[in-house]
This record gives sequence, C-alpha cells and structure tokens, in this order.
Amino acid sequence: MRYELLIDGQLSCGEGSIGVIDPATGEVFEHCARALPEHLELAVAAALRAFDGWSRESLASRQSLLGAIADVIENNAQPLANLLTREQGKPLADSIWEVNGAAYIFRYYANLDIPVQVLEDSPQRRVEQHQMPLGVVGAILPWNFPMFMAAAKIAPTLLAGNTLVLKPAPSTPLTTLHLGALIKDLVPAGVLNLIADLNDLGPLLTAHPDIRKIGFTGSTQTGLKVMGSVVPTLKRLTLELGGNDAAIVLEDCDPRVVATKLFKAAFSNNGQICVALKRLYVPASLYDAVCGELAAIANRSVVGPGLEQGTELGPIQNQAQYERVLSLIESARQDGTIIAGGQRLDLPGYFVRPTIVRDINEGSALVDEEQFGPVLPVIRYQSLDQAIDSANNTQFGLGASVWSKDVAQAYAVAERLDAGTVWINNHGDVGPSIPFGGSKMSGVGAEYAQEGIAELTQLKIINIAKS
Ligand code: NAD
Repeated sequence: MRYELLIDGQLSCGEGSIGVIDPATGEVFEHCARALPEHLELAVAAALRAFDGWSRESLASRQSLLGAIADVIENNAQPLANLLTREQGKPLADSIWEVNGAAYIFRYYANLDIPVQVLEDSPQRRVEQHQMPLGVVGAILPWNFPMFMAAAKIAPTLLAGNTLVLKPAPSTPLTTLHLGALIKDLVPAGVLNLIADLNDLGPLLTAHPDIRKIGFTGSTQTGLKVMGSVVPTLKRLTLELGGNDAAIVLEDCDPRVVATKLFKAAFSNNGQICVALKRLYVPASLYDAVCGELAAIANRSVVGPGLEQGTELGPIQNQAQYERVLSLIESARQDGTIIAGGQRLDLPGYFVRPTIVRDINEGSALVDEEQFGPVLPVIRYQSLDQAIDSANNTQFGLGASVWSKDVAQAYAVAERLDAGTVWINNHGDVGPSIPFGGSKMSGVGAEYAQEGIAELTQLKIINIAKS
C-alpha cells in the first residue's frame, strides 16, 4: 500500500517520503508521500479552480457526496482502524469507535440543511439571508484523533460549498491519506486536496493569499502563530486550541461511582484529548476516598500495544509528548505525592502507566499547564467558592464539569464556570450536533452544528423592494 497525497483528484507521490513511527515500538513502520511547497501550491490552485463548479452544485448533491463518503468509511472501518492504531497508538476498539465516529460526522452533515432565512416579508420588502461559500479553506489537524478531526473539517467545509486543502499532523498522516485514496473517485477533482508535511507547510497554508479561511486545531502556542499569520490576508479563522479542564466533585458524590467516570474522563485516549479532564477538585471530606478509588483503577488498567487484545491504554502518540509527560511526572514527584503509576513501562514504545498525583496544588506545572497525557492531579478543596475560583484561574477555557447527585446545585456551579462547554455528571461528551468552542486562550469561534457552518460561510442579504 502506498500512501500518497491527493491533489486535483489525482494521487501524487510528492517529493521524498515521511517515515511514520509506530508509538508502540518507537520504530518507523510505514512511509507516506511528502508534500513540498510546490505541491501545496498545486493543491491550492486545484482547489481554487474547483471552487466555482462546486459552489454551484446543489446542496442535495453536496449532501449526497458526504453520505457516499460515510458509506466508504463504514465499508473500510476495520482496515482504517488497524492503520489508526498503528500510527496513533490507541487500542483497536477505540480506533473502531473513532472510525465509526468519522462516518457518523459525514452522515450528520449529509442530512444538514443550510436554509435561506426570510428576515422580513412585508408589503414594503422581502429580505432574505443566504449563507454563501467562502472559497478555498485550509485545515490543519493535530495527532490525537486523526480520523475524527479530518471528518470534522472535511464534511462541513464541503457541505457549505467550499473547497479544501487539508494537512494532517506530521506524525499521523496515514489514515487521512488512505481515506483520500478510498474516496478520490467520488469527489470532483480539486474539491478535496490532502497534503502531508514534516511540520513545515503550516505557515505557508495559513499565509496563502488564495485561501479564504483557516480551520486550525492544535496547541494554543501554534494557534497564536496561526492567528498572526492570517492577518495580512484578512482570512476567516477558527481556532480549536488547548485546554486545562477542571472537574469539581461536590460533597454528595459516592466516591466509588464518581471515580470510575472521572477516570474515564481523564484517561480516555491516554489523556490526549483537548477536553480530557486535566485537573480534579475534590472536597476534603471525600478526598482520601476518591484518591484511593482512582489509584485502584489506575493500578489495574492494562497498558500495552493498541493491537494487543485486552489493552485499555496504548502508548503516548509521539516521543516529544512522551518526554513532556515524563518531565511533568518528575516535577509532580517534587510537588505532590504519586499514588499510582509514575513510571514508564519497560518496553521500547512510548508507554507510561496512568498516574494519579495527590497533595498537589496550583503553582505546580502539572496543575497550571496542559499535560495532554495520562497524569491526573487531584486537588483538595475546603470551600466550593475556592474550588470554583481555582477552576477558573487559568488562561484556558475549553471545558469543565461538575459532579453531584443534586443537579440543581451542580447547575448553580456550572453557571459560574468559565468554559465553552460545562458538563454535569459527564465530561467530554461532544458531537457534530452540538456547537463546540473554547473561551479565553482555548480558541476563537466554534465548530459543529449551524454555528460551525456559519463560520464556513459568508452572509449575503438579498433585499427586494416591493413598493
Ligand atoms: P500542534 O499545535 O503542535 O500542531 C497542530 C498542527 O499544526 C500540526 O498539523 C502541525 O504540523 C501544525 N503546525 C505547526 N506549526 C505550525 C505553524 N507555525 N503554522 C501552522 N500550522 C502549524 O498541536 P499537536 O501537538 O498536534 O496537538 C495537541 C494540542 O492540540 C493540544 O494542545 C490539544 O489540546 C489541542 N487540541 C485541541 C482540540 C480542540 O478542538 N480544541 C482538539 C484536539 C487537540
């Protein structure tokens, strides 16, 4: 199998290749085509040529393409999931869930209308609000959910009538390119273009004069560069960035019941989720019990290669992130007490045991920064006001959650938390029908649902005088 770029409806071998590492072994297991700046230029030019025709297609025909892509993903779910586990590391069952999730996203947009709104229809005038496509969109992805993120960028962008140049993360290009090969004969030439890089083409994409909008998902640090780079060409921009989500447990929770759900919220995908639970606030009365339950779950979690039967947590996706997580664990060893995990596995890949740190507070890097890995700080609180202040005391504002049997009390706390999404008795529940975006340094704009379509379109008012 060759993994090639998709440019102007054709597979392209680019120039040279990218070695893709299996994080379960730390070794290169596959190669894909590498795009150079000239391939990016070809991709943007193809997208620009295709725009006129694609934007004039009926909504029904665009919807029908998205439905057909969903079918292709579902029919190839198993090989896509295997590939996803090899390049990303997650357990196979999680990859199957992600691949089916990607198909679900395409299906959702295949059924979404972009209605013309009649703002006024009076004897004097009729005023209509239309949502027009923008032109060529550039999309840039991170490495935590390659299939899911690709679907979340491709489906709404094409539904809105735009054409797209998409760049996956350098360490997880394969599933995206494989999807391109599977659907290349379905998609009109130039409507969808896929390029893969060695972390060097992002700035060219964001600054390109023929691109009208950038959809970026990644770290806040890179998001700031992207924001600066789009200014000279006044591009539209959506930024889905980092988070440091807090969860606040209220006094009436059953420690055993809540710990199981909190563990899942913090450690799914090895904590490599923008809306993973990253700081846990527990009242003093429940502190020892909740810490004990979390440590017990962490200690019995099965860590290993994602393709191995029974694995619950795979390796960390790449070496840089692995080293960052290990360094956060070392600093937490000084600042708190590690009660589970705290060590790497004696295997060649990037394995770290799920780690629970107690007796830790603000001022420690593990609490103040985004860990994006399998390490959870558990912070004791004396008063609810103090917990809410601490939860809000961050540059981030992506998600947060409140846990209680008393939903009214939890709701009152949720109202005081500054985040794009606040869950009650849940954390991380997202989907294409629910708008998603962050406050503060967690992002600009929103994705999903009609709010996401609004960011991929330009308003056009048609105002008809009647008298
Ligand atoms: P990253 O910012 O390092 O890289 C993301 C992408 O940006 C990659 O494709 C990379 O090649 C590209 N890039 C690098 N430099 C660039 C530049 N100067 N201009 C344009 N593009 C550039 O992020 P990552 O390490 O891949 O992902 C982890 C981060 O992503 C975490 O902070 C996580 O919270 C965040 N994230 C956010 C969401 C969300 O929806 N809010 C979702 C997933 C991940």
